[in-house]
Amino acid sequence: MKKLKKYSKKRDFKKTKEPKPSAQKKKKKIFVVQKHDASSLHYDFRLNISGVLVSWAVPKGPSLNPKTKRLAMQTENHPLDYADFEGTIPESEYGAGKVIIWDKGTYKNISKNKNKKILIEKALNEGKISVELKGKKLEGGFSLIKIGKKRWLLIKHNDKQADARKNVVKSQPKSVKSGKKIQEI
Ligand code: MN
Repeated sequence: MKKLKKYSKKRDFKKTKEPKPSAQKKKKKIFVVQKHDASSLHYDFRLNISGVLVSWAVPKGPSLNPKTKRLAMQTENHPLDYADFEGTIPESEYGAGKVIIWDKGTYKNISKNKNKKILIEKALNEGKISVELKGKKLEGGFSLIKIGKKRWLLIKHNDKQADARKNVVKSQPKSVKSGKKIQEI
């Protein structure tokens, strides 16, 4: 699968338990945020767009404060199955370290261009994605704005789920899958 070529190239599936790439036609608009304790800790923000998880690594994790712009580096697409992955990537492998499912849920595309609704595929190409998340920790509007080749900004919309005082990555560190903290994996 062409969209997952980079993903496959970086991994040895005899060594890692991460899912193998597979073409899937699941249309369900899911998102996942995985906390990943690799060479440096970050949060992988992923959206199912056209059957693959389009992915960004967010070093500081998402913020609920609309005034906070979080750097989000676009990484290789991941297979849809990756949204269920929680575990340890072995030492010798790409991205070695622990992964938990920090948040997961569904999203609604609310992307617009010149006040007209556009498809999320188009929004991705144009570098301005807006979604409404329905997760356990993240809810309401978020935008991803492209500012460089791979550099994007993740910004919370100023809506009723915005919260300038809550540090959501600190106050809710546990996996929504296992209830474990990343150290306990
Ligand atoms: Mn990662």
